[in-house]
Amino acid sequence: MPKRNKVPTGAGSKGEPDKSPTVLYANGDGVGPEIIPSAISVVDAAVKSAYNGKRKILWKEIVIGKEATKRFGEPLPRKSIDLIRSNKLLLKGPLETPVGTGHKSLNVELRMLLDLYANIRPVRYFEGLKSPLTNPSAVDLVIFRENTDDLYTGIEWPYDSQDLRALRAFVSERLGVYLEADAGIGIKQISKSKTERITRAAIEYAIKNKRRSVTIMHKGNIMKFTEGAFREWAYGVAVKEYRSSVVTEEEVVQKYKGRVPAGKILVNDRIADNMFQQLIKSPGDYDVILAPNLNGDYISDAAGALVGDIGVLGSADMGERSGMFEAVHGTAQKYAGKNIANPTGIIISGAMMLGYMGWEEAASAIKKSVESAIKAGKVTNDLARYTKAKALGTKEYTAEVIRRIGKG
Ligand code: NAP
Repeated sequence: MPKRNKVPTGAGSKGEPDKSPTVLYANGDGVGPEIIPSAISVVDAAVKSAYNGKRKILWKEIVIGKEATKRFGEPLPRKSIDLIRSNKLLLKGPLETPVGTGHKSLNVELRMLLDLYANIRPVRYFEGLKSPLTNPSAVDLVIFRENTDDLYTGIEWPYDSQDLRALRAFVSERLGVYLEADAGIGIKQISKSKTERITRAAIEYAIKNKRRSVTIMHKGNIMKFTEGAFREWAYGVAVKEYRSSVVTEEEVVQKYKGRVPAGKILVNDRIADNMFQQLIKSPGDYDVILAPNLNGDYISDAAGALVGDIGVLGSADMGERSGMFEAVHGTAQKYAGKNIANPTGIIISGAMMLGYMGWEEAASAIKKSVESAIKAGKVTNDLARYTKAKALGTKEYTAEVIRRIGKG
């Protein structure tokens, strides 16, 4: 029997739903204080429309990021962490991370603290978006990015630090390995248990949502014992724990004359650089992509560009006990406070959260209204600049999405 993950699979939760659950929200930095209220008003309108006012989310604000530093002297106050732990659901705006200096990423810290190990990022084309592809409707992917391992564990030292001098001496004496004297060093770790649990999450998602394939993205030819191991461990889970549901590419060639048997999910792998070109050339050949942390981050933005813009991508960070829902994009600081930012990514994240709560009707109403608005050319500047559409402000676009809820 496969060791079941508790990570949501997109199929909705079972049992009688709480009709007035508390959900936390954090505005975050940059455009966050504009897009989070937009998403909340869309979610509320969809819930009201789908359940005739019989269900309602009780929103509770927590403060993290720059606002928290201003008010409480730290960007991630203990009280906010405790509230997330006890409430379990968080709709989060983007958080700024300084480059090359300053505090570590709060996003990474939150994911680590709450063990939100599965970053799930659906990427689908909406009619009306300006894509660089000739056939963008072929793009319908779900990226499963491991969220707690890899270079994001933040184990690194500046080139001229005392600690790194000690480390250089240690590896030289004990392991006979020479580290450049003027190089900063970071440690990449990829662990078996973390690889196995994200693999289970991806395959279970694929089974429940009747997806065609799961592609393991790695750079195992170069990083043999980290990314190469990710590949091996992922295949191991697939063929040992999900034998009756999956078939590998090798088996398809050797046993099935190149055709995936009906009802089976194809499990294959691609070296990371090739994955990028394959995705651009033949996006329709890819379905669920399973990747370690860094690869998953890179491929998400590239996939976002294929459907027109990362501004439309939502995501879920899931663990066994809590879920954090956030747009794929960052703070987009240059647009902050100008009523320009595209709130679609966080609106879609709100729909993913509703799906996780089992409120599928409301989730689907949001997706349809966003689709309908974009198709009608009712879009924000980031999308309108590539088409003949007149750009709407964040607030006007939000009103347009709400107006379309429940209208087919
Ligand atoms: P970014 O904030 O996503 O912005 C990159 C570009 O994407 C923008 O210049 C803009 O493109 C476009 N864009 C992103 N979101 C948009 C929106 N909602 N509406 C319209 N256009 C949007 O990425 P970044 O500049 O690399 O990162 C900025 C900060 O955000 C960094 O501190 C980074 O660490 C942080 N970040 C946080 C998260 C998170 O909280 N989960 C994720 C990623 C990055 P154009 O210039 O072409 O208009």
